[in-house]
Amino acid sequence: MVLLSGPNMGGNELKYVTECITTGWVSSVGAYVDQFEKMTAAFAGTKYAVATSSGTTALHTCLVMLGVNSKDYVITQNITFIATCNSIKYTGADPIFIDTDENNWQMDLNLLEEFLNEETEQRDGACYHKKDGRRIPVIMPVHVLGNICDMDRLLAITKKHNLLMVEDSTEALGSYYKGQHAGSFGLMGTFSYNGNKIITTGGGGMIVTNDEALAKKAKHLTTQAKSDPFEYIHDEIGYNYRLVNVAAAMGVAQMEQLPAFIERKKEIIAFYKKELEGIGDITFQQVSDDVTPNWWLPTIKTSKQKEVLALLNSKGLQSRPFWVPMNQLRMFTSDIYVNKTDRSGHLYSNCLSIPCSTNITNADLQSVADTIKSLF
Ligand SMILES: *Cc1c(COP(=O)(O)O)cnc(C)c1O
Repeated sequence: MVLLSGPNMGGNELKYVTECITTGWVSSVGAYVDQFEKMTAAFAGTKYAVATSSGTTALHTCLVMLGVNSKDYVITQNITFIATCNSIKYTGADPIFIDTDENNWQMDLNLLEEFLNEETEQRDGACYHKKDGRRIPVIMPVHVLGNICDMDRLLAITKKHNLLMVEDSTEALGSYYKGQHAGSFGLMGTFSYNGNKIITTGGGGMIVTNDEALAKKAKHLTTQAKSDPFEYIHDEIGYNYRLVNVAAAMGVAQMEQLPAFIERKKEIIAFYKKELEGIGDITFQQVSDDVTPNWWLPTIKTSKQKEVLALLNSKGLQSRPFWVPMNQLRMFTSDIYVNKTDRSGHLYSNCLSIPCSTNITNADLQSVADTIKSLF
C-alpha cells in the first residue's frame, strides 16, 4: 500500500523518544516541549508558540480565549476539515460557512465581502448579524491544502468589519504569503501534527501568536488553569490540552527535517504537474505569485474523479476525495451557508488527493501518474 500522506520518521525521532523513556520525562513537563515551542516560533516568525494536544484543541483554545460563546457566530469556510467547525461548536457558537473560490480553493473573498456589507452591521466596535443581532467576533480562515488566499485583502476586510482573525493554518506549516509565514497574520494561528500532516508527533498541535498575554493565557488554559506551582489552586475552568514531552521529542526531530520535507513536497508537485497537466481535463489548485505553498497534499480536479479514485485505490495507491462540504453534513445543515453556485459541492465531486508522503519513492510517483494517465 502506498499511503496518501504518511509519517516520515527518518531522523532523530527514536533517539529523542528513547531519551524521554529512559529518563522518565515522558509526560506533561519536559525540555522537549519547550524546545519544540521555541523551534516552531522561530520557524513561523512569531514571538510565541504554545504546544497543544491536537490542532483541534489549539483552535478551541483560541476561541475560548477570545470569549466566543453560544450567542456568537464565527465565520469560516465551507470546504475544510471538520475540526475547524467542531472547535467552533464546542464553544456553543455557530459557524457561518463562506463558499470556496473556484481557482485557489480558499475562502471566496468576494462572497465574504458581500455578506459582511449586506448582512452585518457595526455597533460599538463589533460586528453583528442584522437578521438576529448575534455578534460575529471572529473569522477563522483555513489555508486549504497549504495554499493561502489574498491576505492583504482579507486583513483589510477583517479590519473594516471589526473581526478578530484566528488562522486555521494547520495545513500550512511551511507556507508563505509575500514571505510571511502562515499563522502569523492573525491574532493567533494554529498548526497540527496529526499523522498525515507535513510533520507529525503522532497527534499534537500548536498555537502561535505575537501577543504575550495570549500566549501566557494559552499555556494556562491548556494546563488546567493551575495558578499555584505547589498547591492545587485553579483560577478558572481549564483544559487538559497540553502536548506530552514524548510527543514533543518527536516534534523536535521532525522540525529538524521540515525544510527537507518541504523540498520533497515541492519535487512531488512538480513531478505531478509535469506528468498530468494537460491530460484530459485535469487541473490543479491555482496559486498566486504572492504565495509559496508547502504543497502538503497534491490534489487534482477532473470530471473522472470517481474512476480515478477507484482505479488508484484498487492498485493500493491510496487516494481520497476532498472533504464533504460542511453544509452537507447533518450537524451543519441548518447553519448559514453563503454561496451563489455551491462551488464547494462542485469541488467535492471533482477533486481527489493523490499519494505524496515525503518518503514516497520516485517509482511509486511514476505508477500513480501512469495509472491516472491510463484512464484518459
Ligand atoms: C488537520 C486539521 C486540523 C486539526 O486536526 P487535529 O487532527 O486535531 O490535529 C484542523 N483543521 C484542518 C483544516 C485540518 O486539516
